[in-house]
Formats: sequence, structure tokens, C-alpha cells
Amino acid sequence: MRKITTLLAGALLSATALTAANADDIVVGVSWSNFQEERWKTDEAAIKGALEAAGAQYISADAQSSSAKQLSDVEALIAQGANALIILAQDAQAIGPAVQAAADEGIPVVGYDRLIDDERAFYLTFDNVEVGRMQAAEVFAAAPKGNYVMIKGSATDPNADFLRGGQQEVLQAAIDSGDIKIVGEAYTDGWLPANAQRNMEQILTANDNNVDAVVASNDGTAGGVVAALTAQGMEGIPVSGQDGDHAALNRVAKGTQTVSVWKDARELGKAAGEIAVALANGDEMSAVDGAGSWTSPSGTELTAKFLAPLPVTKDNLTAVVDAGWISQADLCQGV
Ligand code: BGC
Repeated sequence: MRKITTLLAGALLSATALTAANADDIVVGVSWSNFQEERWKTDEAAIKGALEAAGAQYISADAQSSSAKQLSDVEALIAQGANALIILAQDAQAIGPAVQAAADEGIPVVGYDRLIDDERAFYLTFDNVEVGRMQAAEVFAAAPKGNYVMIKGSATDPNADFLRGGQQEVLQAAIDSGDIKIVGEAYTDGWLPANAQRNMEQILTANDNNVDAVVASNDGTAGGVVAALTAQGMEGIPVSGQDGDHAALNRVAKGTQTVSVWKDARELGKAAGEIAVALANGDEMSAVDGAGSWTSPSGTELTAKFLAPLPVTKDNLTAVVDAGWISQADLCQGV
């Protein structure tokens, strides 16, 4: 009996999938966590482009850094007829019920950029540990000795600790030898630049400004850090970031930020759009081009795809211009 029910359920599921494919009316719902961050507009344009190419429709909502709002956003996207969801989770723990709600309706989920620790969600991201390694490696090359500050991302975003792990790998030997001392470390609530600035100010005060380098986890937080340093006349000490935000690339050109690890969000967004449509059409997650199995720190076995980041420093700023990420004119604005 159970076998028949399973078979029936399977037949029903593929019938639904076929309907979606045939009707050419796939709706993909994207749940953003903090759309005010510069990079997400680029991700959105790429997702929209991929959906348009596939004849699918884009709907979205922004949780404005509220994990509670994100849950009602996802419910609303489902109610609006989403056949697949792309979720940038504000809070890896709090997002659980949204994944459950989608699963209850047979709606596939793509965990976008940030881990959703659930085997039912496809995990599409950049190699975040590698981003952390690249950030620390560039700062370390510029400041092989001295007092370091670690400005981490949001504590509710697993990327914060992936990055921090990669940073530690690179710095560990110098910490062990005493060349480097970590004199301050803080998570940044909601990844907000203003919070990073406040944390940096407090760490500077606590250390009588005795700070030689800052490993900041993204460009937004780097902006807050550089503002705090500038207020003390300390701008120019090594600072890292990531995302290739235009303001950050200008700081790299000016010498107030050492590196922005660039993740081509256009590639990630395009892949997410394509994967969401494929899954809505009933494809298996394992059939996604370049997907493999990956075990999360908590032991969940997920199907994942990782894209590669590139560190951008003063020496290779042309890489982002050549890639059409920023124009030469925009790059020179801050110089
Ligand atoms: C992303 C970063 C982004 C940060 C803040 C992280 O999860 O990987 O690219 O800067 O969130 O939005």
C-alpha cells in the first residue's frame, strides 16, 4: 500500500512539474535579507536576466534585516504562486520554518550565497572559506607583524564564521610565533557599516589606537572601519573587504583599502535563476551542472555548487574593469 501511495505521489509530483514546464509560467520567488547592501542589486539583475531568458517570472521581497519578516515574506511568495524559491537567509536558524513551508508545497529551494543547513535546499555560493583566506593573505602581505583587528560579519550568517575560519588558517602561524596579535574582534550585527564603525571605534579606544591592520569581512564593514580609522588619522593601514563594491574599489585605488575579494555576483545570480527554473521543472538537484555533495559543519549532507572568488588589489584593478564590473571612469571617482 505504502509503495502505491509513493508511486502515486511521484506521479502527481511529475504531473505538477510538467504543468509548470508546459505552461511556460514558472514563477520564481526571491527572498532577500538585506537588499540595501550594494551587491544584491547586481545579483538581482542577473537572476532576473536568467529568468527572462527562460521565460519565467520574477517576484521578490526584502526582509530588511528581519528574520521574522523573512518568514512572512516567504509565505507571501508561496501564496503568490512561486514554483521555486531563492532565499538569501537573514538568519540560518530562523529560516527553518520557511524551508518546511516550501517543502510542504513541493516547492524547491535554492539557498542563495548563505548556507541553509537543510538537505532539501540546494546550496549555491562562492567558496567563503577561500574568500577569508584571500582577505587575510593580502592584509598579512602588507602587515606581516603587529596588532590585528578582526571585524566579522553578522553572527546569524554562517558566512561570517566560514570567512573567519579561512582568515585564521592564514594568520595562525604568525599568531603562534607572536608576530601577530589579535587585539580586537567583533561580529557586525546585520553586517551594517555603522555597527562595524562603532565596533572599530571601541576597539581603537581600548587599544590606544595601537592597531596595525584590520581584517574586515566585507566591503560594507570595511567602509565603517575606514571611517573610524580616518577619524583618528589612521587611514592607510591595511584593511580587507569583499564584494567589489564600487566605493571599495575606489578605496583600493586610493590606498585606504588593501583588497576587495571580488565575487562575480552576475555569475551567481545567473546560476541561481537557471537552477531555480530547472528544479521547478522537476530536475534533480544532483543534475545541476557543477553540483556536488558537501557536508556542512553540523554534518548535513547538501547538494552544493561553489564559484571561485578573486582578490582585487591595487595591482590588478584592471581585472574588474576588463570584466565590465566597473568602468574606468567610475573607478577613478574616489581618486
Ligand atoms: C555575503 C557577502 C555580503 C554580506 C552582507 C554575506 O553573506 O557573502 O557578499 O557582503 O553577506 O550582505
